[in-house]
Amino acid sequence: MDRSPRRYLLALDQGTTSSRAILFDTQTGDGGGRSGLRIAAVAQKEFTQFYPQAGYVEHDAEEIVGSQTEVMSRALRESGVSACEIAAIGITNQRETTVVWDRKTGRPIYNAIVWQCRRTAPQCESMIADGCEKYVRDNTGLRIDAYFSATKVKWLLDNIPGARDRARNGELLFGTVDTWLIWRLTGGKVHATDYTNASRTMLFNIRTMDWDDNILYELGIPRCMLPEVVPSGHIFGTTRLEGADIPIASAVGDQQAALFGQACFEKGEVKNTYGTGCFLLMNMGDEFRLSRQGMLTTLSAGSRPGKPEYVMEGSVFVGGAVVQWLRDELGLISSAAESEYFAAQVPDNGGVVVVPAFTGLGAPHWDMYARGAVFGLTRGAGKNHLVRAALESIAFQSRDVVDAITADTGIPIRTLKVDGGASANNFLMQFQADILNREVIRPSIRETTALGAAYLAGLTCGIWESTDQIRRQWTLDRRFAPAMEKEARTALLHRWHRGVERCRGWQEPAVSAAKAAEAAQTD
Ligand code: ADP
Repeated sequence: MDRSPRRYLLALDQGTTSSRAILFDTQTGDGGGRSGLRIAAVAQKEFTQFYPQAGYVEHDAEEIVGSQTEVMSRALRESGVSACEIAAIGITNQRETTVVWDRKTGRPIYNAIVWQCRRTAPQCESMIADGCEKYVRDNTGLRIDAYFSATKVKWLLDNIPGARDRARNGELLFGTVDTWLIWRLTGGKVHATDYTNASRTMLFNIRTMDWDDNILYELGIPRCMLPEVVPSGHIFGTTRLEGADIPIASAVGDQQAALFGQACFEKGEVKNTYGTGCFLLMNMGDEFRLSRQGMLTTLSAGSRPGKPEYVMEGSVFVGGAVVQWLRDELGLISSAAESEYFAAQVPDNGGVVVVPAFTGLGAPHWDMYARGAVFGLTRGAGKNHLVRAALESIAFQSRDVVDAITADTGIPIRTLKVDGGASANNFLMQFQADILNREVIRPSIRETTALGAAYLAGLTCGIWESTDQIRRQWTLDRRFAPAMEKEARTALLHRWHRGVERCRGWQEPAVSAAKAAEAAQTD
């Protein structure tokens, strides 16, 4: 077998709570690539989450770089692979998180403002009051929300003394985490991002494929601080590792990376990632379409200059997090994996429905005042029923997103490719197939985010020539065929939706709660 000296791909997976480095061996098995990639090493390091005020979330941008370079070296050390055996690096990252730094010193002017941070909700409300909603939606594919980078950049320019002037003079640079890492890994030589990350900033026009001057003007953000935007598979520059120069050959936002890692290259192909939340993405090819059901339209890793490719994305806020809740708050299980065992101890949920609307409900229900509840308790309801109902809630929510995306696109979903931590749960995956009445397909490599970045890097540096070759790399772990009777499925869904209805509007908006308290005092 021909053993290339540069046979490895190093994926840097910069997530919200940890940085990971995954080393993939591209030459395994039969040498024809059919047996797929092999993971040669994984190194992971968590970093600090800062919560300076209620609703605020920040990261130390230096700590992000430090943890990422540390795991990179550790993965090499632990595998015994030397840097000169690495063909390329691929980057995948938490999206939307915002860093602004000084072009000369390379120092951030403030902590990174994380996607979860709600500090710019008032700016979003004022953009909506200014009548920007339709324009933003039609041109960025997003809803105006604090989640995206745009208002975070504005907040930094408004709140860090002198920042706006320095930005206008070209002294400050903005980047999402991919851009920040590339800047640092190339020694400050490259200021660039890819289409997928740009499409999550709410500053990028996904129809013209350029930064949107109208939105920049509205927010007072100078264009000169924005990175160049290039395809996800691209030679961004090189980084020096153990004396070797290694090309950085891809950068891609985490969910689009997972879609690519699942080999969903054709229009209509779908994957669902079961992590803390669930992210369902459908490849829409070159068709730009806005959702009527609360999905977002965003760019895929296949986008090229002047040739956008779109995905439709629906998210569930609480996915695997409901299992963490069973473990950490209720103490019903001691590990996430144990949930599978307890759920299987009972033949059904005993009428129990868990609606984990802990932070409201996302697509397609969109109710920020909904709160979680458990319904259908009887004297016989026990721990096993509760655990089972909690797992089922992940599948019910995903089914609601599948229905919404199908209604929006008119594209029937025949099979669902799954990945993410909770996709390891066989009970959950079988129930998902049953409740969807669709086949659920789980790949052997569930690290699809890192895999997507590695595939893109490998395509860019010539390890593979086409996505067809990549598709052949994709290997199956297990298929879950639907096995539930229609009546049973309909009854379960009916009960689930009754639960969802009862959770709606539970949390009173702050104003009416204050009024109620006032009224109680005067009574
Ligand atoms: P993230 O990338 O969002 O941190 P991961 O893909 O690492 O998420 O998945 C972690 C989530 O999956 C956690 O919320 C955890 O509770 C859940 N999880 C992990 N293993 C299992 C399992 N066997 N059964 C159910 N849930 C699981």
